[in-house]
Amino acid sequence: MVFAHDTEGALLAAVALVNSAEEPDTLTSVAELDAFFTTNEYTGRHTGSRAELDAVRALRPRLRGLLTSTRDDAVATINEILAEARAVPQLVRHGRLDWHVHAVALDAPLETRILVETAMAMIDVVRTDELDRLSVCAADDCAGLVLDLSRNRSRRFCSVTCGNRMAVAAYRARQAR
Ligand SMILES: [Zn+2]
Ligand SMILES: [Zn+2]
Repeated sequence: MVFAHDTEGALLAAVALVNSAEEPDTLTSVAELDAFFTTNEYTGRHTGSRAELDAVRALRPRLRGLLTSTRDDAVATINEILAEARAVPQLVRHGRLDWHVHAVALDAPLETRILVETAMAMIDVVRTDELDRLSVCAADDCAGLVLDLSRNRSRRFCSVTCGNRMAVAAYRARQAR
């Protein structure tokens, strides 16, 4: 494991959320937000309203900016988010999850919790100087984010689809020679 389990979980969720904005947008309905909530094992307030969906969708550019920024710029954004949300880190244990950090109350709006959890996770990324674990997909015409949690830092594509697409393109290029 590169980071603590809650850090990895928050980063995976943030990357999935940012990547949902890639065409075709995969976060356009409350049902899709429900699926995101469940898949990423969120707990706490989830109203399932159109307003909540819009607020979570609106986070995506800011999260993308944070996840792709330089180390010093990331620090500025992280500090700003935590101050804005008046974050108070607390260790909590619930459900099947062992001790992990929450920095805002469970009844805070979902978009606030996603934003703060991402900022908290990025604290670890900055402190361990592991920002190169985050990159933009190496496939042509894809702006998806890649979170590389592999031991040998080998991950270059945002999805299996992009990896396969580029493997096929490379094969064709070799055949055409
Ligand atoms: Zn929790
Ligand atoms: Zn991709």
